[in-house]
Amino acid sequence: MPPTKDADEKSIANLVEKYIDENDVMIFSKSWCPYCKKIKDALKSAKIEFHSIELDKMDEGDQIQKELFKKTKQETVPNIFIKQQHIGGCDKTLEALKSGCVATLLNPPESERKHKKVDNDDLDSKDADEKANANLVEKYIVENDVMIFSKSWCPYCTKVKDALRSAKIEFYSIELDKMGRDLSLFKLLIYIFIYYLAEGDQIQNALINKTEQDTVPNIFIKQQHIGGCDKTLEALKSGRVATLLNPPESEKKHKKVENDDLDSYDYDLIVIGGGSGGLACSKEARSFEKKVCVLDFVKPTPIGTTWGLGGTCVNVGCIPKKLMHQASLIGEYVHDSVDYGWSQLDQARQHSWSKMIESIQQYIRSLNFKYRVDLRSKGVTYENSYGEFLSPHRLKLTDKKGKTKEITGEKIVVAVGGRPKYPDIEGDQQYGITSDDLFSLKYDPGKTIVVGASYVALECAGFLHGIGREVQIFVRSILLRGFDQQMASKIGDYMSTIGMKFHYQRIPTRLECLEEGKPGKLRLHYRQTLESGEIEESYEDCNTVLFAIGREACTNELNLDKIGIEVNKANGFKIKTKEEQSIDIPWLYAIGDCIDEQTMPPGQPLELTPVAIQAGQLLAKRMFSNSTIKMDYYNVPTTVFTPIEYGAIGYSEEDALSKFGEDNIEIFHSEFVPLEWSICHHRDQVKTMSYCKLIVDKNTDRVIGFHVLSPNAGEITQGYALGMRLGATKNDFDMTIGIHPTCAENLTTLSVTKSSGDSAAQEGC
Ligand SMILES: Cc1cc2nc3c(=O)[nH]c(=O)nc-3n(C[C@H](O)[C@H](O)[C@H](O)COP(=O)(O)OP(=O)(O)OC[C@H]3O[C@@H](n4cnc5c(N)ncnc54)[C@H](O)[C@@H]3O)c2cc1C
Repeated sequence: MPPTKDADEKSIANLVEKYIDENDVMIFSKSWCPYCKKIKDALKSAKIEFHSIELDKMDEGDQIQKELFKKTKQETVPNIFIKQQHIGGCDKTLEALKSGCVATLLNPPESERKHKKVDNDDLDSKDADEKANANLVEKYIVENDVMIFSKSWCPYCTKVKDALRSAKIEFYSIELDKMGRDLSLFKLLIYIFIYYLAEGDQIQNALINKTEQDTVPNIFIKQQHIGGCDKTLEALKSGRVATLLNPPESEKKHKKVENDDLDSYDYDLIVIGGGSGGLACSKEARSFEKKVCVLDFVKPTPIGTTWGLGGTCVNVGCIPKKLMHQASLIGEYVHDSVDYGWSQLDQARQHSWSKMIESIQQYIRSLNFKYRVDLRSKGVTYENSYGEFLSPHRLKLTDKKGKTKEITGEKIVVAVGGRPKYPDIEGDQQYGITSDDLFSLKYDPGKTIVVGASYVALECAGFLHGIGREVQIFVRSILLRGFDQQMASKIGDYMSTIGMKFHYQRIPTRLECLEEGKPGKLRLHYRQTLESGEIEESYEDCNTVLFAIGREACTNELNLDKIGIEVNKANGFKIKTKEEQSIDIPWLYAIGDCIDEQTMPPGQPLELTPVAIQAGQLLAKRMFSNSTIKMDYYNVPTTVFTPIEYGAIGYSEEDALSKFGEDNIEIFHSEFVPLEWSICHHRDQVKTMSYCKLIVDKNTDRVIGFHVLSPNAGEITQGYALGMRLGATKNDFDMTIGIHPTCAENLTTLSVTKSSGDSAAQEGC
């Protein structure tokens, strides 16, 4: 059924309907999309026939996708219909496959078939209007403390009803597939005057409009939308259902205030956290003339370090880190300069820690000031106070003098970021430091032990070594968990070759102070598993111990449990969100480092400033203008600023192999010598360690993983990120003209595949 070229909107709509009508299982897909592939594979394994079209390969693909969005409110692929019923994307269809819903739809039980027939016969005569259905849905929800919109054949509906019965919780349910048959006389009388207008399908449409959930069971408790079976079971288990049905006294009071005073919140939006995400979100919201307040408060570290407005990135993250990385690169350039003909530069290698800190901190203070001025000039209220929830829309603010006040907000965005973890050993907080202290440390850290193998650990270790400090790195297991492991081990090799000592399997057990001072003398006791399997207890002396073993979201003192928000304890106490909206409470949102976001690719570390900023801006647009644009967490570029930088976009080799299978991917790679290093003798041992690889989906030629280890990898990766976002194929990379002589050009000339076993070393230029 080839689509016509000059199809107008109507014919596109007809075309979409035709596809859906003519195919029992219809998949609107894109050729490069891993989720489309996944669902097709699953259907094939279940021996279910389907018809699919690849939108990226059709002239009308974009128009069809727009039409699908109009029809289903889903803007992603795969977009799947079974027996003319919209199922959703990959996850929903897999769920439906697993639960047997797909089989039931394709082969409905006798009763269902009969019912469908009655529906069809009745279709014209009923002519239910949308408003009546919406009213009916509201009426059900308002009049029943626990309201379940269900279908009689659905096993999840039965499961949740059984669970509620066992918990002795009364509920009211209607079976959308049997509308008109199962109502009690009492309910029937109440709803009768509009009931005759409604059909099960239409009620379900009204529910989709209200909740964006297109499956059953669809459950409301005390007028609050809970979700489907899993979410309700979770809410039952956590006690949230009980709390909603019998709210504590304080909550009841608040409910009264809210109801009395519904239109008079102090702010349209309160943002808790003035970091990358919070500042971006609050300023964007203000651009829609909303009344916005942003709170930012920094709790001092155990050794008393604190900082100004702007959050992690500007004060204790990206900015000082990149400047210290630069300090270390300059040290390398000083070495290089000899071979470039410079002399008498040796003195410049006497690096002053205090001068570097002074310059960096001065710059950071100027940024803190700029952020404050920016908020003021835009009309965003800034409160330098710590916020915590008193009730769903009410916060208690405490400033640094301990003065408190309360404010209310109609919508609340949590953007509290995260803070470094300590290992919970004796002396850790008393004598150890974290990255929160390092960037403003008043004294030279001297010999430093870095504990951890996160990107923060390796970056800090890298620049400390680069500015001439002795560094040892204690690693529990692997480097850079979550990143491509070939690249991680290449970074480790590079750092070892330039003189940094990695100690694997060493776990700190106690931190002891041998001598007070700035820096003092410390002894780090540790336990190490030797290659023989024996466990050795020993210690290492140093001046500074820097813990960089991971971060946790700052959610534990927000009183989130008071307002029914659950955090994911297994994932750094993050708030569970879908499209940055809390999955528990509709007016609460979260962005940045503190979210456990369901639309993020699993396992990818996306705690990054530009991610927080864009998520905050898009969220504000969705909340306060008519935007529907959502944050795209895929193909986010990132760079680890180790002495040799590592840039990555998309899949790691491990993830690509496990998702696509070895037979479906090809890896192109190359080792190369950065021209600027080629005449520097002090780099002889590391010259050939620059490396790049592209992971390609063989079926579509699309590049699904981009990795480069080289000087300036951050700059290189940013440029290629645009191509990756646009779905670049290997052929697109090959057809791109390189800029000679650069490191980046190596990505445009990759011809050696890993599978060939040929050498990746490059010859000549
Ligand atoms: C060492 C290091 C290096 C990094 N390097 C990079 C990099 O190179 N590139 C990159 O993209 N990302 C980098 N990051 C990550 C980046 O800094 C974060 O992803 C980003 O700052 C997250 O922004 P956010 O808005 O979520 O939170 P944050 O920027 O952390 O802001 C949260 C703010 O909320 C405040 N707050 C918390 N609780 C409350 C409360 N109850 N009331 C009031 N205020 C509160 C906090 O004090 C903080 O100011 C780095 C991080 C670290 C630690």
